[in-house]
Amino acid sequence: MSGTDSEFDLIRRYFAEPAAAATAAEGLRLGIGDDAALLAVRPGYELVVAVDTLVEGTHFFPDHPPASLGHKALAANLSDLAAMGAEPLGALLSLVLPGVDHAWLKGFSQGFLALAGEAGVPLVGGDTNRGPLAISVTVLGEVPAGQALRRGGARPGDRLVVSGALGGAAAGLAHETHRRTRGEAPADSGNTACARLFWPPARLGVGRALRNRARAAIDISDGLLADLGHLCAASGCGARVEWPQVPLDPLLEGMAEPEARACALAGGEDYELLFALPSDEPLDLLAFSVDAPLTVIGEMTEGDEVTIVDARGARLEPGRAGHDHFAG
Ligand SMILES: [Mg+2]
Repeated sequence: MSGTDSEFDLIRRYFAEPAAAATAAEGLRLGIGDDAALLAVRPGYELVVAVDTLVEGTHFFPDHPPASLGHKALAANLSDLAAMGAEPLGALLSLVLPGVDHAWLKGFSQGFLALAGEAGVPLVGGDTNRGPLAISVTVLGEVPAGQALRRGGARPGDRLVVSGALGGAAAGLAHETHRRTRGEAPADSGNTACARLFWPPARLGVGRALRNRARAAIDISDGLLADLGHLCAASGCGARVEWPQVPLDPLLEGMAEPEARACALAGGEDYELLFALPSDEPLDLLAFSVDAPLTVIGEMTEGDEVTIVDARGARLEPGRAGHDHFAG
């Protein structure tokens, strides 16, 4: 950036001051304004780091509401921290912008900072460059040494549990895609059919509660079956999912079953947590301590196969497999 809207001015104007006012993180020694940030990791803790990039045309439509983009860019990263059982320490934001659009920046920063404030995550560094719109967020977190949740570790007989409800983001994406093919205006940020697509959760409280309880965990970013496949591969076992137990987002109401199944099992971006809970670990106690419903949807099995069964135990096909952004 050049002229009056220098890189420093944009970050300071839209992010630094509101962020500093909204969050006063314990581990933050030095935030935006120096060459780098300084963060203190408590003794006995490990640093947890994740990065995620959203690219226009690949991950979102060009007219995607900017406040939702700010929220989603941070939520996707916080979801990865949650899946590790980590506490957030701070976030870094790298923006590639085609130009300086103050209305866009205002909306984007509001969405980003609202979630940052809610989750207690200070923005500790930022960078802007000119080019096709892309948003990259890096999050830093900490977890008690040795207690991070991983994808590996699940064993046959463990219950398979999911937080929240599934399929809402895919339903929203289908809604948006249909509107466009009909030539209608894109949804605004308050559109209820796109609520889950635009405002995904970050299940930090669930992740925290799973430490020392769950044997393996992953966040559902690519779709239940795709992410369950990752968990199974890392754990060296298979899984059986009971379709009637899968909690469906209310946005799927009225949808034909094959379509609902495709959204809930293969749709991405729900950002719920999926985890393996040993059979002797009480679920009610865990459910009582978190702010999202927890549902047993099946169990881990011997072998390496992931199967979906109906109420009678007969195998079902999942529908479109995996989430490939705009491919489907
Ligand atoms: Mg993840």
